[in-house]
Amino acid sequence: MSVGLPFFRYHPDPVASGSIRRADERCACCERSTGWIYTASFYTAHEVDGPFCPWCIADGSAAERFEGEFADSYGLDGVSDEVLYEVTRRTPGFRAWQDPHWLVHCRDAAAFVGEVGYTELRAHPEALDQLRADMRIGGWHDGSRLERFLTHLGEGATAMLFRCTVCGAHLCYADAS
Ligand SMILES: [Zn+2]
Ligand SMILES: [Zn+2]
Repeated sequence: MSVGLPFFRYHPDPVASGSIRRADERCACCERSTGWIYTASFYTAHEVDGPFCPWCIADGSAAERFEGEFADSYGLDGVSDEVLYEVTRRTPGFRAWQDPHWLVHCRDAAAFVGEVGYTELRAHPEALDQLRADMRIGGWHDGSRLERFLTHLGEGATAMLFRCTVCGAHLCYADAS
């Protein structure tokens, strides 16, 4: 956890995940140089001249001023409008091949942990089991091909790891180019 940064319930360590990094650039929203900038996705129809600071993400001012969102609302089914708003407009997104989206567990959005490979995933067998089940449902019927894909996560394709904010279970989805 980085000292002094705002706390993001649904993305608790954006420095570790690489979405926020140290830099002296000025924020495109508040025009202050806070020493930290956001480096990942933002979807807007407006021109944004530069990066945002974490504070303009946390208080919603960047999303409001530029009428944009940091993540897709795809997949955020069954959560309250407040949670939907917080995830898409007040939470740093992350870099991914496909549009980043959030997973849901215990009827709340899960917290994004980071991009991981098979080695890290093995430490969370419940996430690996859930991903395996999701991919079977998604059409991966060849078991040995599926296992080969899973064990090679981290080389090309990766897994986006989340942690339930309610029960603590880990869950993930696969991201590939
Ligand atoms: Zn700012
Ligand atoms: Zn849960």
